[in-house]
Amino acid sequence: MKEIKVDTLVIGGGSAGMAAALEIAERGFSVTIAERENSMGGILNQCIHNGFGLHHFKEELSGPAYAEKFIDMVDSSKIKVFLDMTVMDIEQTTDDLTAYGLSRDNGMVKFSIKTVVFANGCRERNRGSIGTPGTRPSGIFTAGLAQRLVNMEGFIPGKECVVVGSGDIGLIMARRMTWIGSKVKAVIEIQPYPAGLTRNIVQCLNDFDIPLYLSHVVGEIHGRDRVESIDVIPLENGVEQKDKSFNIKCDSLLLAVGLVPDNELAQKIGITINPETNGPVVNRQLMTGQNGIFACGNVLHVHDLVDFVTEESERCGRYVADYLDNKKPADQYKTTPGKNVKYLVPNYYSPKEDNKFYLRTMIVKNRAELVVKVNGKEITRKKLNHIQPSEMISFSIPGGKVENISELHNNILEVQIV
Ligand SMILES: Cc1cc2nc3c(=O)[nH]c(=O)nc-3n(C[C@H](O)[C@H](O)[C@H](O)COP(=O)(O)OP(=O)(O)OC[C@H]3O[C@@H](n4cnc5c(N)ncnc54)[C@H](O)[C@@H]3O)c2cc1C
Repeated sequence: MKEIKVDTLVIGGGSAGMAAALEIAERGFSVTIAERENSMGGILNQCIHNGFGLHHFKEELSGPAYAEKFIDMVDSSKIKVFLDMTVMDIEQTTDDLTAYGLSRDNGMVKFSIKTVVFANGCRERNRGSIGTPGTRPSGIFTAGLAQRLVNMEGFIPGKECVVVGSGDIGLIMARRMTWIGSKVKAVIEIQPYPAGLTRNIVQCLNDFDIPLYLSHVVGEIHGRDRVESIDVIPLENGVEQKDKSFNIKCDSLLLAVGLVPDNELAQKIGITINPETNGPVVNRQLMTGQNGIFACGNVLHVHDLVDFVTEESERCGRYVADYLDNKKPADQYKTTPGKNVKYLVPNYYSPKEDNKFYLRTMIVKNRAELVVKVNGKEITRKKLNHIQPSEMISFSIPGGKVENISELHNNILEVQIV
């Protein structure tokens, strides 16, 4: 078996993996990226629509154009990249950290490493996740798979389709399917409000007269070999109104019903998973509960914008380099999601250092406020124009801002949305 010694192995060559690897290499440490696909870029490669990079590059790019900028930087760095390589396993003992990657060209490769960065993204929830009854014909796709088939493989998944889920991926696929000549008969959304950005509702649905059914669910799928139609049931106060159900004829169903961090590898080695994000529990330095093992990007928590993935992953890369430099972090205390907050990342903060947080709320509200408390005492408050569960919120707390640290208290930092 081929053996490679390297300071850091980055698992995944998407936007998170590339950004983290570049920062680590910049500090003079040796880095290898292992990427399962035959090119880097990850999910960006199939997102040929515009809307990427407004924060990071201050210009509007397509997914592949955004990826290309990072691929060029990786290519001109000292980072070693293994394409077509899947990291299968990681072993950690008190003294050693080892990872095993498998590829057709190299067979099994053993990496002896000091640090690992999980940057292996997320996967889509599917029909099983939402438990839709009915037959099991062909013609049912997750939206991301349909996007890949259309944008990268050159297939048309169906001629008459219904999209389930009004998040940005569902909306973008409704428009994409229309552009390739398919008739999009409806977008079905279980919530009483659209999950995606307003601009996407206008540009992807309204501009093409695609009906959006809010507070509706798919009751049953019909068809033996191929999808023939679906039953749609309205909800009133969350209760199905079966007597008001109606049928839509279609030959395909695109499911855009959420993304889940791909955390199997992390779980396999005993890393604690946050049940709210499905990604690892991490400290302020984005290090998991196991020494030298870090996580960033969609495997940590699902992000809306690639720019946030890049920002978080660059920071992760700097923390990895600090770890390799034996820089000792300051004392840390727990963070916790309070009223109306679904999750808060990271799970620890340091009062003496700058802290960056990401969270999602559980409510839709105009003119909300984000309130941060430590030991019950308010330390900062921020106004938010509009909040909704599908839009990630970020905020920072500079080092020194939290002053009431006390040995008598647990010093937990709590974030509420009011
Ligand atoms: C369909 C879709 C549309 C989007 N549209 C927008 C948009 O319009 N604007 C915007 O700003 N953002 C958008 N985003 C969000 C943003 O692009 C993503 O959040 C971001 O690119 C994710 O980066 P990542 O590196 O964390 O994950 P990924 O891009 O998923 O990268 C993970 C990589 O890890 C590899 N991998 C997985 N497991 C292994 C393993 N065991 N071994 C080796 N490699 C492995 C995968 O092959 C993949 O290349 C969209 C996301 C999706 C899914």
